[in-house]
Amino acid sequence: MDSFERYSRQIILSNIGIEGQEKLQKSRVLVIGAGGLAATALAYLASAGVGTIGIVDGDRVELSNLQRQIIHFESDLGKLKTKSASDYIKQLNSQVYIKEYPVFLTNENAELIISQYDVIINGTDNFPTRYLVNDYCVLLGKPLVDASIVKYEGQASVYLPDKGCYRCLYPIAPSDKLIPNCSEVGVLGPIAGIFGSVQAMETIKILLGMENLTISDRLIIFDLLNGNIRTIKWKKNKACPICGDNPSITKINSDYNIYCKTEVAQQNIEDWSIDLAHLKSIKPAPRVLDLRNLEDAKKLFLSNSSIVSYDDVLSAYDSWDRDLPIVFVCDIGLRSSSLTELLRMNGFKNVFNLRGGIIKYSSELYQ
Ligand SMILES: [Zn+2]
Repeated sequence: MDSFERYSRQIILSNIGIEGQEKLQKSRVLVIGAGGLAATALAYLASAGVGTIGIVDGDRVELSNLQRQIIHFESDLGKLKTKSASDYIKQLNSQVYIKEYPVFLTNENAELIISQYDVIINGTDNFPTRYLVNDYCVLLGKPLVDASIVKYEGQASVYLPDKGCYRCLYPIAPSDKLIPNCSEVGVLGPIAGIFGSVQAMETIKILLGMENLTISDRLIIFDLLNGNIRTIKWKKNKACPICGDNPSITKINSDYNIYCKTEVAQQNIEDWSIDLAHLKSIKPAPRVLDLRNLEDAKKLFLSNSSIVSYDDVLSAYDSWDRDLPIVFVCDIGLRSSSLTELLRMNGFKNVFNLRGGIIKYSSELYQ
């Protein structure tokens, strides 16, 4: 088949040309997960002529996948997702070499698999894997193109070697049981399609040497239900536990499936958490920042609290007074403890988390 004709529409682009096309052909991209995000990411990377694509997924195709994982068909039900994805790519572009890994990424196999690729795309929806992938990408110096989707919304960012990582934004992983995933709260297919496409685009830019044009210093958040796009600027966190100035994680030896948080981090959160009675007794009254959405806050709220989003705090906290007394609250105390941890790591001495979240105190607040 004539490669020039196949790729002609992108070869004529000034940033690509024949040279760029050859770079793509020599490139190796690893896609972790063969689900909704991977579907469009794989399709566009294969059609663009990325030479080698690795696919990691230990699952088999189920009927509930077909609503958004558009590379799998009814005839693939029960097949390994890696095989089904590979069959799709072969139909699309027989010039792509596909390496199937029909396993789940674990502490035992991650290094061997990730080390063989130029760019890593995370298409999984669970936190242990997200942190596992992030940590290995940092330690192995691999660019990570990350995205996550839930309900009608998605977010994406790119983590380049030495330019910051997922833990710079979210230092400690929450317990997997506390975070909803797509199977519990739902997601609409086009959200997966758009963000998988964003991941393919960002990956192509990295492969072509256009790292400076990636979204590596930003988190893009797109709520497709109401059409709102937000961009949150972020930068490398000097106190990041893995890519900061004095990293506490220098090699990976924990089982990410058992716990994400280290015991030290859990103890810290306990020390920095207060209950409602304690919060009310603090004089002078601290700033109470409620991380929930307006709708939830209207139903149940603490007096004198302000609504602020997690992302707004992320983009603004660096300019705040580090002695400012602040108490973060959210619904179950998860996002609030994560932000408390982040600010504490960055020199804030009077930041606290409302233990258990506002839901725990609903009976008291209604009285
Ligand atoms: Zn980091």
